[in-house]
Amino acid sequence: MLAQTSPVAAQAVATSAPVTDVRYEVTFTRANGERRQVGSAMTFTVGGTDPVILSLPKWTPGAYEISNFSRDVSNFAAEQAGSSLTWDKLDADTWRVRPRGVGEITVRFDYLADSLDNANTWSRTDFLLFNGTNLFLYPEGREFDFPASVSVNTEAGWKVVTGMTSVGARRYTASNYHDLVDFPFFVGQFDVDSTQISGTWVRFATYPSGSVTGGARIAVWEALKRVIPAEVKVFSEVPWTTYSVLQIADPGYGGGSGLEHQNSHVDVLGPGMLGTPSLPSLYAHEIFHAWNVKRLRPADLWPYRYDIEQPTALLWISEGITDYYADLAEVRGGIINAKGFYEATSDKISQVDQLPPTSLEDASLSTWVHPRDGTEYIYYPKGSLAGLLIDIIIRDASNNHASLDDVMRKMYNADYKNGRGFTNDEWWAAVSQAANGKSFADFYSRYIDGREPFPYDRVLPLAGLRLAGDTTRVPQLGIASLQDSAGLRVTEVLAGSAAAAAGVQAGDQLISVAGFKAEDSNWTDRFRARYSREAEGTELAVVIKRDGVQQTLTAHLHFVLRIQSKVVEDSRASAKAKRIRSGLLTGTTN
Ligand SMILES: [Zn+2]
Repeated sequence: MLAQTSPVAAQAVATSAPVTDVRYEVTFTRANGERRQVGSAMTFTVGGTDPVILSLPKWTPGAYEISNFSRDVSNFAAEQAGSSLTWDKLDADTWRVRPRGVGEITVRFDYLADSLDNANTWSRTDFLLFNGTNLFLYPEGREFDFPASVSVNTEAGWKVVTGMTSVGARRYTASNYHDLVDFPFFVGQFDVDSTQISGTWVRFATYPSGSVTGGARIAVWEALKRVIPAEVKVFSEVPWTTYSVLQIADPGYGGGSGLEHQNSHVDVLGPGMLGTPSLPSLYAHEIFHAWNVKRLRPADLWPYRYDIEQPTALLWISEGITDYYADLAEVRGGIINAKGFYEATSDKISQVDQLPPTSLEDASLSTWVHPRDGTEYIYYPKGSLAGLLIDIIIRDASNNHASLDDVMRKMYNADYKNGRGFTNDEWWAAVSQAANGKSFADFYSRYIDGREPFPYDRVLPLAGLRLAGDTTRVPQLGIASLQDSAGLRVTEVLAGSAAAAAGVQAGDQLISVAGFKAEDSNWTDRFRARYSREAEGTELAVVIKRDGVQQTLTAHLHFVLRIQSKVVEDSRASAKAKRIRSGLLTGTTN
């Protein structure tokens, strides 16, 4: 919490009159779906005529960006005993309602449900995804510890799935506002089934109906049954009573994105991602967040605030270390083998190598402004690699008696279980303790606070691994691109590249290359696999859209030599290094 000490700052925070008996109602019928508007109502009791000041969050925890959900609000209205109340706005996302006296008040608004974004609200004629951060107002300047119920008013035959505690037909309850907005909902027609994993029920809900069926659905369940127990083992505890994987596949979306919650996560995917190895990795990442960030969380993010950015220099731990554990859960659960783990690690090394040197702390703090130099998400791969190095150093210093798993479990018990977030000092003290008292001060100043290249040559051999150079000849078009609402947008065309010669320009929307649709998140891999042995100069049709007009350009296949670092097993590894390597891959210590 930020302390408001100066009189000027104190004036800036409005305090609502107290409200009690808070109930929310979400209305989504077929008619709502056709208009892409969802109805939100909040009913509460007041004790007098003092103004009630209600705010809507600016962001959804986990999606570290200011989204200003109030922009999607329309038709705001307030009423008491059947007649409307006077209201005005105090700021862009705060409404001031003037009660006529003691009694019950209902405020309502419509919310535009057309944002295909797991932090937002999105509808089709038969389906709604909503997040409480978009629809549930809170009384400004008051504690967030008020209990509330949620009723969902929808078509009789439609389904409702959420992680929120059910207390009746389409009625749910949460004991405080932080929880209330941490349970996204699926409402409408979609597929859902469930099974028991690690002693708890896990649900898999997929929209549209039929998007994940047969063997593909069995494969998802197989992946969940492998990664969840591997992650539970790190903490020796399942933190949820049920867990829901809520997944949307839509052709309007490129790639894939997940957003974590305490007992669920929401994945939004382009259909091209279904059935790819990226999917188990995404699930493993989001589910690990149930411990790391939803519960074990940097003190800067504890408690969450909804009216302001909450930067933390420790996001690399919450996101990067989570990504490291996604790889570990996959190899420990048997989804990938050791070679697959080395390949995932090698990919991360090359991603980081291609970006400007950026410190993990700086990248963590900067995420809120989405830096445009390519480093916006560097804290994922680089934080993951930091996790690997720290894990190896701990295992080496402790003769493989301890690991990063012990640090995660100890912090979880010491901080989350005591109702608080953790600090940088606490993190490094726990790391050092696991490493038999070894100091990480130098490691921290060079590689976490600093921008020095990671010491792979010194650390990897401690786990019987080393970096080998691997030169490959790869077809290269020579563009940088970014997924936006319209599709894959070309952001940069390399001078002298095949794309430049073909006339591709920055700002073009890329539709397809040599028949490979750009909406498929794996199109570059597929393109390279198909053309790696074709002749230099082979003609390729490049379909783009510029100023709304589709055009087909002709590019000529061009190869570049790529030198990539690959993690491989060290044939000269000592017995100790082999023990560490095996412990890391299997989740064990000696
Ligand atoms: Zn994450």
